[in-house]
Amino acid sequence: MKNEYLLKVYQECESRNYGKVEFLDAVKEFLESIELYADKHPELKKYAVLERLVEPERLIEFRVPWVDDNGNVHVNRGYRVQFNSAIGPYKGGIRLHPSVNQSIIKFLGFEQVLKNSITGLPLGGGKGGSDFDPKGKSEFEIMRFCQSFMTELYRHIGSMVDVPAGDIGTGAREVGYMYGAYKKLVNSFDGAFTGKGLEFGGSLARTEATGFGLIYFTEKMLKTQLNTSFKDKRVIITGSGNVALYALKKAAELGAKVIAMSDSNGYVVDENGINFDTLKVIKEVKRERIKEYQTQVPTSKYFEGSKGIYSLKADILLPCATQNEIDLDAAKIIVKNGICCVSEGANRPSSNEAAKYFVDNKVLYGPGKAANCGGVMVSGFEMIQNSEREKWTFEYTDNRLKERMEEIYDSIYKISSEYGNSYNTILGADILGFEKVANAMIKEGII
Ligand code: NDP
Repeated sequence: MKNEYLLKVYQECESRNYGKVEFLDAVKEFLESIELYADKHPELKKYAVLERLVEPERLIEFRVPWVDDNGNVHVNRGYRVQFNSAIGPYKGGIRLHPSVNQSIIKFLGFEQVLKNSITGLPLGGGKGGSDFDPKGKSEFEIMRFCQSFMTELYRHIGSMVDVPAGDIGTGAREVGYMYGAYKKLVNSFDGAFTGKGLEFGGSLARTEATGFGLIYFTEKMLKTQLNTSFKDKRVIITGSGNVALYALKKAAELGAKVIAMSDSNGYVVDENGINFDTLKVIKEVKRERIKEYQTQVPTSKYFEGSKGIYSLKADILLPCATQNEIDLDAAKIIVKNGICCVSEGANRPSSNEAAKYFVDNKVLYGPGKAANCGGVMVSGFEMIQNSEREKWTFEYTDNRLKERMEEIYDSIYKISSEYGNSYNTILGADILGFEKVANAMIKEGII
C-alpha cells in the first residue's frame, strides 16, 4: 500500500482493533485492492469515506444465559454488528460456533457490506452470532438457546432495520426458533429474518442459493476466461454443510465429478463422484459426521484431518468450510497440483497471501464476497416476496439467481480488465461493491 490516505486509514484501524486479526486482514485486503481506484478519487479523503467504512455503525454484545437438559445454567456471549446502512437495512447471517468473537463478527460484517452491494439489491451490511456450540446439543437445548438469544436481539432488528439469516451452525431449524421467538416478542409477522421455513414466509431456493450461486458464478468465469465448463472436471469441495452440499448438487448436475469433501474432522474421497442424496441424508437429516459416508459407500475412502484434501489432484477447488482454511503453503500445493480455478463458497477461506498467490499464478479466483453472494441475494428475494405477500416458484427464483450471478461475474471481469488484469477479481469485486456504498455515504452526508 503506497497511497498515504489508505495507509493512514489502515494504521488508525489497526491501533483501534488491536489483536483483531481476521478483521484487520479483511480491511487490509480491501484497502490494497482499491488502491488504484482511490488514487483517482480524492473525494474519498475529503468525505472521510474509508475512515467511516471501516468503523461499524453499531456493535452490540450481550449475555445469553440458557438451561441445558440437566438443569445446568450456561452463559454464552451474543453479538450483532450493524456495520453499514448506506444503501439499505443491515443484512447478514448469524453464526453459532465456539470460535465466534468480535474480530470474526466484524470481519464478516465488513465483508457483508461489500457483498450485499455486489448483489445489486438495496441491502446494508451486518452480521451476528455467538460462541455457543450447537454440536451435541439436544433439540430443546438449541431451542432454549435461540429463544434466549432473541430476548436481546429482537429489540435491534426488524424488516426495515436489520434482517438476520443463517450462517455456520444456524440452519433452517435455528432460524425457525429465532424467528418464532422474535414474532412472539414484537407481536408482528414482519419477516425480519430470511432463510425461514417455507410455511412461514421462506423463499423457495434459499436453501440451495449459496451453493447454486457459487456454481453459476464459477461456470461463467470458466467460460469467459478459459472457454471451458464444469463438464468432466474433477472438483474438490471443502466442508459439507449447507453451502458445500448444494455446490455439490449443482456441480454434479453440470457434469462435474466431485471427488472429495470434508468436515472439521476429516475428508472422504469417492473417485466415482460423491453422491448428493447419500450425503444429504447424512448431513441434513441425521446430522452425522462425513466419516459416515465411507460406511454408506464402501468404495470411498475416509482420511482423518481436514488439511490433506488440498493435496488431491483435481481441476477445480471450491472452499466452502470456513475462514483462513487455505494458507500460503496450502495455496502453493494447490497450484502445483494443477488446479485451474479456486472459487469461494465460504467467507475468506483463503488468507490474503493465498489469494494473492492464486491471482499472481493466473489461477481463476472467485473471491467469496462475490462468488457466494447468491445466498444473500435470494434472502433479498425473500424480503421482496414477504413485503409483497407473494410466493415465487423455485424455477423463477433460481433463474433470477443464475442471471444475476452471471451478470456479477461480467461486471467484475470488466472492472478487473479495465484496471489491467482480468484475473484480479479481488480488485474487480471490491470496486464493484465499494463504489455504490461510497457514493451513498457521500450523498447522505457525514453521519
Ligand atoms: P454449515 O454450518 O452448514 O457448514 C460448515 C461446514 O464447514 C461443516 O461441514 C463444517 O464441519 C465445515 N468446517 C468448519 N470448519 C472446518 C475446517 N476447519 N475444515 C474443514 N471443514 C470445516 O455452514 P454453511 O455451509 O452455511 O457456511 C459455510 C461457509 O459459507 C461459511 O464461511 C459461511 O460464512 C459461508 N456462507 C454461508 C452462506 C449461507 O447461505 N449459509 C452464505 C454465504 C457464505 P463441522 O461440522 O465439522 O464443523
